Amino acid sequence: MDKRFYIPIAAIVILVVYGGYRYTSLVKVKNATQLELASTTVALEGKTKTLVEAQNNNLDLLAKLEGELSRNNAFEQQLNSISSTVGLLDKLSKTDKELLQKYSKVYFLNENFVPSALSDIDASNLFRKDKPEKIHTSVLPYLNRLLAAASQESIPISVLSAYRSFGTQTTLKAAYKVTYGAGTANKFSADQGYSEHQLGSALDFTTPTAGVTLTNFDKTSAYDWLTKNAYKYGFILSYPKGNTFYQYEPWHWRFVGVELATKLHADNLSFYNMDQREINKYLVKIFD
Ligand SMILES: [Zn+2]
Repeated sequence: MDKRFYIPIAAIVILVVYGGYRYTSLVKVKNATQLELASTTVALEGKTKTLVEAQNNNLDLLAKLEGELSRNNAFEQQLNSISSTVGLLDKLSKTDKELLQKYSKVYFLNENFVPSALSDIDASNLFRKDKPEKIHTSVLPYLNRLLAAASQESIPISVLSAYRSFGTQTTLKAAYKVTYGAGTANKFSADQGYSEHQLGSALDFTTPTAGVTLTNFDKTSAYDWLTKNAYKYGFILSYPKGNTFYQYEPWHWRFVGVELATKLHADNLSFYNMDQREINKYLVKIFD
């Protein structure tokens, strides 16, 4: 071979060998990098998965927390409504339900019934100063306000009779029977057991002109004033003219609470014509 070719051939051989070597190294680096990338990707994917799971867990927790909170709110509301019901029941349990019952020849007041508390009516408000009269303690302030309002307008009204026990009513009726005979006595004195006077919340008013016999009470300015104003103090006329429950008694007024009395007055209804279930709804507010 010609010596002139030795050097270029050697150079080519060196280049080829070096090139092969570089190529192999580069392939190795590339493979290593690819491997590294792949493992990094796997690691990243793992981390992303963990993150997504953690986020999902947080959402679950949040939902549970919200559920718990709304259950707590519902529970609190239930507690509040239970405590207000308990309050009402407690108030009702301390109020004589007899105070708003209708008494007639078919519905009797128990002979053992005695009002929970009785107070003396101020002597200045009595027609007979020497004959003490008692009234249900919770009704007394309403009576005093009514009498003060009438007095302010110069309407003369005083109390003739208020609380009467079952025993007193029995004695009274017997005396009337002796004096007037059973027929007449039945007309103007309720049989013991269905007199509203035993409740302690009913009373008979009179004026100087009507006196103890209550003559023409419904012609007095007192009666006129009572029909227009008594409801504001919780009092109603038990037996109005033309009622079918008892004889007309313009002097006999019963305390039923301001709310019920106002309703009866506004609707021009009488207590005895109202449904007992409807009346009962007012018991809890009778002294409000
Ligand atoms: Zn009466």
